[in-house]
Amino acid sequence: MKRKLTIALVAHDHRKADMVEWVVFNADFLSKHHLVCTGTTGTLVRDALYEKGVCPDFTIMNSGPMGGDAEIAAMVVRKEIDLAVFLIDDLNPQPHEADIMMLLRQCRVHNVPIACNRYSADLMITSNLWDDDDYTPSPPRYEKFDRESLNL
Ligand code: PGA
Repeated sequence: MKRKLTIALVAHDHRKADMVEWVVFNADFLSKHHLVCTGTTGTLVRDALYEKGVCPDFTIMNSGPMGGDAEIAAMVVRKEIDLAVFLIDDLNPQPHEADIMMLLRQCRVHNVPIACNRYSADLMITSNLWDDDDYTPSPPRYEKFDRESLNL
């Protein structure tokens, strides 16, 4: 990949093992990009990558429940995030549910690819579209359906 991406990484406590395994599996790829993480996720991911001798650019925000998801959501709004990997614990309630919903919503609104499982994340980081100068992502359309206005 020619582009250097800014990739957000967030994993809830019961998904951190999944995140660390994913990061180690993709260490070569991630070494060339800028990683932005919530607090605990970032520390674990950074340690795992350093152990492999991989030292990518890192920004570590606050812990998720203390506003880390909200900080990353603000970066999404400012178009500073190219891709997010967000491993959500769907089996346990989270104290910062509102922030989780906000991060997901801002990614949708601002058309930022967001992977919520490792399979999606693998597919996203191996896409050729990142380097395709002829490809422009279609932004979401928020309008009433009107057949005449379709760009077909
Ligand atoms: P953490 O935050 O990486 O600081 O654990 C993740 C989250 O709970 O959103």
